Amino acid sequence: MNNYLMVINAGSSSIKFAVYQKHDALEPLVVEASGQIDGIGNQPRFTVKNAAGLVLIERDLVAPEADDHTSAITLINTWLITSIKDGALLAVGHRVVHGGQYYSEPVLIDASVLNVLESLIPLAPLHQPHNLVTIRALLDTRPTLPQVACFDTAFHNSQPVVAQRFALPRRFSDQGVRRYGFHGLSYEYIASVLPTLGPKLQQARIIVAHLGNGASLCALQNGRSIATTMGFSPLDGLVMGTRCGNIDPGVLLYLMNQHGMDADALQQLLYHESGLLGVSGISSDMRTLLASEDSHAHEAIELFVYRIGREIGSLIAALGGMDALVFTGGIGENSAVIRAKIGYQVAWMGVKLDESANQAHATCISTVDSKISTWVVPTDENLMIARHTIEQITTHETISDSNAK
Ligand code: ADP
Repeated sequence: MNNYLMVINAGSSSIKFAVYQKHDALEPLVVEASGQIDGIGNQPRFTVKNAAGLVLIERDLVAPEADDHTSAITLINTWLITSIKDGALLAVGHRVVHGGQYYSEPVLIDASVLNVLESLIPLAPLHQPHNLVTIRALLDTRPTLPQVACFDTAFHNSQPVVAQRFALPRRFSDQGVRRYGFHGLSYEYIASVLPTLGPKLQQARIIVAHLGNGASLCALQNGRSIATTMGFSPLDGLVMGTRCGNIDPGVLLYLMNQHGMDADALQQLLYHESGLLGVSGISSDMRTLLASEDSHAHEAIELFVYRIGREIGSLIAALGGMDALVFTGGIGENSAVIRAKIGYQVAWMGVKLDESANQAHATCISTVDSKISTWVVPTDENLMIARHTIEQITTHETISDSNAK
């Protein structure tokens, strides 16, 4: 009898999932299949691949299949039940964007936890509702199946209070208006990999650049987050695919007063029309911009890199130095050009990239005499969620067993 785990990452119009088999081995979690339903509510499509990337299922769905998140997760659940006839599903781990001030670690979900998570919707109105509707749907159909919430914010709870505070009147910080930080599952995974790259890295002052459609930096000290570029929301910090990153709040007041923009219009502008897309007027996709000869595409890339250079400087100040720099995320893992441009921006700190290692996407891309070792580490947020899920259900079983004695 085999044991399985499922990891769910629910977005606004998609549910991505991965199925792991649990072994009693050194690497206990082995991915068996992954897939997604995208286009939920609007031409949904179901795709499943095996671990080798071979397509097992690829089909358009028809109403009422995947009309909404509830029917989409029901379909995935039905597929899973028929696919793992040789075993049992132990638990489901969910990526949940916000744990607020309540959760600095993953948590086994019950009705009261779900109520707390629902109370956090105002902090992440674009993401949290989709995470939670999926959890609730599974809770309704499989009430005895353990579900674990793993938070994007939790890893950054180790930031000192001063790094979390805005200079606003205290009543706002008391109500939870503070810098939380995101991409925490990615940074936690990277922190778990660092000791395997070099024994000194665990204690080092490290800046990790997670550069994808969403992009942020994290300063790690002894493997813990002490500062990060995203703040109250995933809008802050770096230039992203369609998000503006760091912006003078005076700009928002100007847009409201002079352009009559309300909260919805600003949300649309800042989340969906800005960043690489806004500056280039061409695309949010880095590959498209790198391939373009348009001067606006070039300017968008230059701004992306410039902002990263400045924010790295800010995190170096928070860390009191930097021993290593790590690239991850779709751009960080795959674009030698962008890594080289960023390397050039931080050459003043002693970063020296080995051009051929960088071109080859090697794990270590700095020269031997570089003062700052520089790395490319593929992130794996799903594996991090799967590990947390196993840990939570094992802890819970141990507590239940000892209570029963
Ligand atoms: P998300 O934040 O949605 O998870 P990803 O981490 O998948 O995003 O990153 C997507 C970004 O990575 C896109 O801008 C894409 O163009 C970029 N990317 C992927 N491969 C390459 C590549 N070979 N060169 C440059 N950019 C790349």
